[in-house]
Amino acid sequence: MKDSPYPKHPKVTCSRCGNCCSIPVVPITHKDLARIIKATGKPANKIVRFCPDSEMEYDDESGIWIKFKSGKRAMVLRKKKEKCMFLTKHYECTIYTARPQTCRTFPYSIYFKDGRDRIISEISLNKVLDCNAKRHPSIDIGAVVADVRRENREDREYHRLVEQWNKSGEKGTTADFLQYIKL
Ligand code: SF4
Ligand code: SF4
Repeated sequence: MKDSPYPKHPKVTCSRCGNCCSIPVVPITHKDLARIIKATGKPANKIVRFCPDSEMEYDDESGIWIKFKSGKRAMVLRKKKEKCMFLTKHYECTIYTARPQTCRTFPYSIYFKDGRDRIISEISLNKVLDCNAKRHPSIDIGAVVADVRRENREDREYHRLVEQWNKSGEKGTTADFLQYIKL
């Protein structure tokens, strides 16, 4: 795999329990998927699946929901034996430098006061799942903020694409959707 365009920075001290790569269903964007395809050479349909709302706790208004004839679905990373397909048995990520933005920013939650992600209102550690990570003493918080801004930007772009798809009359298949996002 080629070097990442992003800087490396320790974010947390962590027990490497693997919960964050096992328990959640990981929604990804077209940008995440493009990076993973480039890094792995795998086709899109071997990386993602389209997951029903029964598996995810996102509200109806979330921009992740893609409308298909069979109902709404979200594009998420595939799992293997109940864990992310890219997690090794030693709890290492095989696509570390190309991992999705949401993986890059976890377990930080950074909120902004304004809609343009300029002024930070809160930085906290995510507690949605059993995670004992602590803020790393030498963290480069600027790099984490930059990652969150990138995540928010790419989410907004992806949600606009999904919205346009959902507005179109005839709903296609998941293969049509992947073609629509050019992957
Ligand atoms: S970040 Fe949290 S959930 Fe993930 S491996 Fe570390 S301690 Fe476990
Ligand atoms: S892509 Fe990597 S960091 Fe993200 S859930 Fe999978 S193994 Fe974990």
